Order: sequence, then structure tokens, then C-alpha cells
Amino acid sequence: MRELLGGKGANLCEMTNLKIPVPQGFIVATTACTDYMNKKEISKEIKEEIFEGVKKLEKVTGKQFGNPQNPLLLSVRSGARVSMPGMMNTVLNLGMNDNVCQGLAQITNRRSALDSYRRFIQMFSDVVMGLDMNNFENILSQVKSKNNIEKDIDLTEEMLEEVIQLYKELYVKHFGQEFPQDINHQLLKSVEGVFQSWNTERAVAYRQLNHIPADWGTAVNVQEMVFGNLNNNSATGVAFTRNPATGENKIYGEFLVNAQGEDIVSGVRTPQPISELKKFNKELYAQFEKVCRILEHNYLDMQDMEFTIENGKLFMLQTRNGKRTAKASLKIAIDMVKEQLITQKQALLQIDAKQVTEVLHPTFTPESLKTHKHIAKGLPASPGSAVGYIVFNTEQAKKFRAENKKCVLVREETSPEDIIALTHAEGVLTARGGMTSHAAVVARGMGKCCVAGCGEIQINEHKKEIIINGKKYTSNNIISLNGDTGLVYGEELETMPNTQNKDFETIMKWAKKYKKMGVRANADTIEDAKIAKQFGAEGIGLVRTEHMFFKEERIWAMRETIVASTAEQQAKGLAKLEPMQQLDFYNILKEMGELPTIIRLLDPPLHEFLPKTEKDVKKLAKQSGKKAKDIWAEIEKLKEVNPMMGLRGCRLSVVSPEITKMQARALVKATKQLEEENIKSCPELMVPLTTTVNEFKYVKNLLTEEINKTSKQLGTKTKIKIGTMIETPRAAVISPSLAPECEFYSFGTNDLTQLTFGFSRDDSNKFLNKYTEQGIFVASPFETVDTQGVGELVKNCVKLSKAKNKKLECGVCGEHGGEADSVKFFAECGLDYVSCSAFRVPVAILSSAQAQIRQNLR
Ligand code: PEP
Ligand code: MG
Repeated sequence: MRELLGGKGANLCEMTNLKIPVPQGFIVATTACTDYMNKKEISKEIKEEIFEGVKKLEKVTGKQFGNPQNPLLLSVRSGARVSMPGMMNTVLNLGMNDNVCQGLAQITNRRSALDSYRRFIQMFSDVVMGLDMNNFENILSQVKSKNNIEKDIDLTEEMLEEVIQLYKELYVKHFGQEFPQDINHQLLKSVEGVFQSWNTERAVAYRQLNHIPADWGTAVNVQEMVFGNLNNNSATGVAFTRNPATGENKIYGEFLVNAQGEDIVSGVRTPQPISELKKFNKELYAQFEKVCRILEHNYLDMQDMEFTIENGKLFMLQTRNGKRTAKASLKIAIDMVKEQLITQKQALLQIDAKQVTEVLHPTFTPESLKTHKHIAKGLPASPGSAVGYIVFNTEQAKKFRAENKKCVLVREETSPEDIIALTHAEGVLTARGGMTSHAAVVARGMGKCCVAGCGEIQINEHKKEIIINGKKYTSNNIISLNGDTGLVYGEELETMPNTQNKDFETIMKWAKKYKKMGVRANADTIEDAKIAKQFGAEGIGLVRTEHMFFKEERIWAMRETIVASTAEQQAKGLAKLEPMQQLDFYNILKEMGELPTIIRLLDPPLHEFLPKTEKDVKKLAKQSGKKAKDIWAEIEKLKEVNPMMGLRGCRLSVVSPEITKMQARALVKATKQLEEENIKSCPELMVPLTTTVNEFKYVKNLLTEEINKTSKQLGTKTKIKIGTMIETPRAAVISPSLAPECEFYSFGTNDLTQLTFGFSRDDSNKFLNKYTEQGIFVASPFETVDTQGVGELVKNCVKLSKAKNKKLECGVCGEHGGEADSVKFFAECGLDYVSCSAFRVPVAILSSAQAQIRQNLR
């Protein structure tokens, strides 16, 4: 019931069913949040239901909300449908006021009552009233330093009383009224505060990054408070059933004695490893281990849990499928199959396809690790490597990114706000905080390297400098982080690609076994083709021939062809290009052997190839025997107001057929060359940007005639399939008439998205960001296929066209072909294959398998 109750709420209910001890409570559903968002207030009915919930809770717990003699205190926590760790707000110790605090001090212990009260004032003011937490932290620090103590735990009752007094004064100063003593008011305001935290900047950024719809809203979990800060027989902790960084099958986590949850996740105090819990209380640890086993067996996945021990009694506060690194994700999936907990298919579904290639992220070269000495060591919180200039905040990270400079975020302690900075940085280094601090969790989820709790560094975020062993580093310095060892280096270390990983190979083997839809690659060079094949690509779905002409030594011949004013001049240029093109085709076809290789005719507007500077025009004039001024005139002629909708694609074949013919000749010659060497090849020719049947027929005739003519001359019978890209809405609509003319279709979803929306694929990010920020779009349609519009065109086109031509093969070669969610959609549309850049082939293979397994489950 996670849609209604949120993930946290649904899992709390599930734990109750499993007889696992959880603090009792009730859940304000996500629908109440959306209702609040619409009405801008909590409706009367919902308010009544909340207070009914409190009444029931009073019955179950035997305590009374607001009664100083036997007070019920509440925790009010967020919980969306999918977990958004640390992105939304929580209010703890609610129901506390002067009287309740007094009463509580008498029945439990005075220090813990005061500590809970000061925490409540702090959280309520921050979450509900928007008064920054730092104001309170400053007061706390001042009181601590005045009394010469370092840790919160050393605060005496008198000091806590002073802190509370100062907190209250700060509240009055800011809001012109006393801190609210009315507990019902506190509760409603806090529920509202949690609702509103759905729209904090960090939550919005997290949603954008993870494609979470803005209208889902959050549930609010209202539960009886259990106190990890009651005494030294109490504690609070965070744990994973397996190691989320490496995947090792061993409970992993941290806890703090005499503390509350936020002390751990915020990284304010560095906690003890969970193994120490055995020493703290052996029986309790055994109980905890049992809970971990029950949860894993129930959810069939690694769990991330929060717990509290109140006076020796264990309470589970939450469980969810744990975020993990790609490395851990593969290991956990494979181990669980070995342990016979899950099947191979379930293992494949457990892995986040988007993440899978992260195990292949670059690592430091062995030489650079040998020759450089580390300057500090922290906790290896998220693996991988990060090299970049030191930055201290989001603004700086954004700036460095805009200047194309890599950067590493360095923070005293991490806060969930850092998610925005992290999207721009290579990794993060923190001075404080443990492996389960929110930033470590978020960094792992984002596949970014993280070294946490590196106590040797002193950070001055204000002066923007760090000191390590007496040496100063600023934003002019580059540092390197090793997320696998936790080592920090004061220089730039060299990295190398990481192409092998045994677990990765196992998962890919399983995925290939279960997938049905094919996966090809978009590749223009032998290098790309090699990588694609290594990853298991079953052919090339797109060779963009224009990329072959951009190289320095070729562009001049291309330019000469374009600025030619006579057929002879053009033929001269083409004669230079043809052998180059033949060699390209030969190389790539040889690499791919019998696997289908789709070569696309020249696509971009011609002026993209032309020189732009005086110097280059002069050079071209000399080479082509033309006057510079005539070349400038030619350039002027080719200029277009709207080149993306101008002379490009198959329109080039109509206007400059000789170029198309040259490409056809070069392909036949390359094929013949391979034939002579007894090497099989499977070339196909693709026409870009088709809009009408006659247009396609025109280009097809041009190609067929040239192929036949050249084959005859060479004494060969080359069979080259001819098909088209479907990348204009018109082509998609008329595709049933196009189908009998074509041997294959390939959906160019980049252009199809551009033309369907009328959004420029080059510039629209400027405004699309706002669209995703405002929740108008869940994701950019250039990233994830728009299933309702563009997707509908694809789906209908496949269905109707295949009905007209049973042999028609349909694929996708736009960027969406390598994006996990889009691949799933394409599999459902009945496409034969997707084609994507070489490095995304594994993502496509895994997504294709997942789509198939899910379809079979239905
Ligand atoms: C497309 O438009 O989706 C496509 C693959 O072609 P290009 O990106 O080269 O325009
Ligand atoms: Mg295109």
C-alpha cells in the first residue's frame, strides 16, 4: 500500500504484521498531502481523523497526549512512495511543553526530558517555522564552549535548562511570540511542516534527478516516541542487512548510545560500528540479527533500517530496500541467488539498470597509486574515484562545472542540501559523519565517490580553504579521492578505464539469457564498435557517416565538395572523399563481421562543415582553386535561419545526389573488398529524416541504381537492405504506406521528440529545467521517452507498419535507446531492438531483460 501510506508507512505496517517491535502509531496518507497542496490547508475531516488517531494511540499505549503525569510524545515523520533519504522533514519529541517536560523529568529522568525538549524546540522551529537549525546549533556550541565541554552528551541538566531558555528567547525574538505550548497546535503544524517539506529545494532536486512525479506527495507517520536518549541503556542506530558499499553479507551499520536518530544521519557525532552493539547488549544484538533475517526473507532484498533501543528494549523505526553502490548491487543479487533466497530473474529485477555500468567507472592507475602518497584517510563511504578542484558549496560546484572543470565537494559535515552540489561534482569528502550519513547514502545512490568522516582535515568553509597536516589547500588545488580505500591525495592522480568485473559479467550473462528485444550500438569508429561488441551488442544500429568527415584530414575534401560551383569541381572533391569513406566502411564492417551494420546517409545541414574563419576560407580557396569571396558567398547561400528543419537528412540526397551516390559506391566497394578477403559482412543503408513515400522512393532508386551499377562494374552481387529512419511525426503517421517500400525502420527519437514537441534538442534545456523543477515534466523528454506523445507515435507505427510488411524490422537509435525506462517502454511496443552508445549497451541489455521478465510475470 505504499502509494497510499508511503514506503515508510507501508513497511511499518508490514513489520507489525511480521511481529517485529515498532513504535505504535497511525499514518496520514499521501492523499491527505495532495489534498493539502490543493487547498493550502489541512481539511476539517483530516484534522478530525488525526485527533481520532491520537485517541486510539492513547488507548494502545496507555499514555495521554499532553498529560504531564503520563505523557504521550510523538514522532512525526515524512515518507513518500519511494524513499527519498533525508530529503524531507521530521519533527521528534512532539507534545512537549513546559508542563510535560516537568512531568516527564519526574517519571523518567530529568536530563533526558530536558534534552528532548530542547530538540523539539529546535526541530519545530526549523521544520515548521523555517528558522534555520544553525541558529540553534550556534547556541548549543556557545554553551558547550563556555562550559569547556565538547560533546552534547556532557551537557548537564543546568546547561540544558540554559539552552532551552536561550532557544525560547531566540524564538520570541524571531517570531514575536512565545514558543507554542498548545500540543494540538504543535501536531497540526508539524503535519503541515512535513507536507510542505515535499517541496523543499533539496526534495525537488532529488525528484528531478530520480524522475519522481511532483504530485505524489508524502505521507506522514505519527508514532509514539521511543527514546534513544533516555539513559546509557538506550541508543539509536542505522543499519543495513548487508554492506551497501561492497555488498558483503554482513550486518553493517552504526549506533550511538544515549542519542536520537538525527544525531547519526546528520553526521554530527561519529558513531560506533554496529558490531560493538554485541558488547553493549548481547541478547539485544541477537534479537536484532534475527529481525534482519526476517526482513530480508520477507522483502527478498537488502534492507536499510533505523532502530532505537529504549532502556534495553529494541524498536524498529523503519525498513526499506537499501540504496547501494552498483558494485554492492551486483554482489548482493548474485549472493542471494547462491543462498537460494531468490531466482536469477528476481535477481535481475532487483538491480537498478541505470546504475549497472558504474562498476566500470574509471579507477586510479596502479602507477599513480604507487607514486603518490596520501595526505589523509577517511571512511570509504562510496566507491570509485574522484579527481577535481576543491569546492565548498553548490554555487562553486555549478560554476566549475560550467567552466568544464571537474570538482570535488569538500564539507565539514554533509547535509541533504548537498545533493545539488553533488550533481555537479565528481565526489564528496567530509570531515565528519559516518558511513550511513545521508550524504554517504545519497552519494552511493548517485554513483558518486564519497570519503566521509576524514577527521584529519580542518575545513574553513568561510575562507574556502582546508588544512591537512599543516598544509593549506584552496579551490586552486586539485585533490583525488579513492572511494574504495578512503584515501585522500593532494594532487591529480591518473585514472584508467575499468572494463572488467566478474559479477558484472555474470549479471550480463543472465540478462542475455532472458531478454528478447535485441540490443545494438550506435558506433562510428572501430574503437566504438569493439567496445560495443565486448559489451554484447548484436550489431550496429546507427553509423553516423557525418562523423567520419569531421576529422581534420577529411574536412577539407568535404569542404571542397560543398563549395563546388560546377559538377567537375564537385566530382574532384568527391573523388578524394570516396576512398576515405570506403576505408571507414571497410573497417567497421570488418569489425562487425556478420552482425548487421546500419550505415546512415549523410544527415546534418551542410554548412556545419564549412570554414568559419578568414584563415580557413583562404586555405579552402587555395585548395579548391576558387576565390575567397566566392567561398564566402557560398557560405552565405548555405546559411539557414532554422537549420534543424532545413537542408539536411534525405533532402541532401535530393539536392546533392552525387554525395549520396558516392556513399553507396564506397559501401559496395568496401563490401567487395571484404568478400575478396573471405570476410562476411552485413551492411544496410538507412535514409534519414524521411517525410513522404515519394521522397523515400526517390532516394531508394538513387541508391539501388548506384549499388547495381557499381556491383556490376566490380562483378559482385551485393545485397544491401535499404530502410529509413522514422524521425518526423509525418513519417510516423504515414508509416503504413511507407512500410511496403522499406526493409527496416529505425526510430530517431531525438529528432522525433524535437519535432513532436517543437522543442529544440539543442537549446531546450534552458527551459526544460524549469519544467522538471515545477513538476510539469517528470523528466526531460529528450532523456526519457515521452510515452504519451512520441511513444504513442512509435507504438502505433510499429503495429500498423508490421501489419503491412511482416518482414519489417523496427528499432530505435535515438538516445532513448540506452535509457532504462525508455527501453522498457520500447520492449512493450514490440520493437525488435534498441541501439545506443557503446557504453550504454549493458544498461539496455539489462533493461531489455527486465522488461521481458516483467511481461512474462503479467
Ligand atoms: C535521432 O534523431 O534520434 C537520431 C538518431 O539521429 P541524430 O541524432 O543523428 O539526428
Ligand atoms: Mg536524427
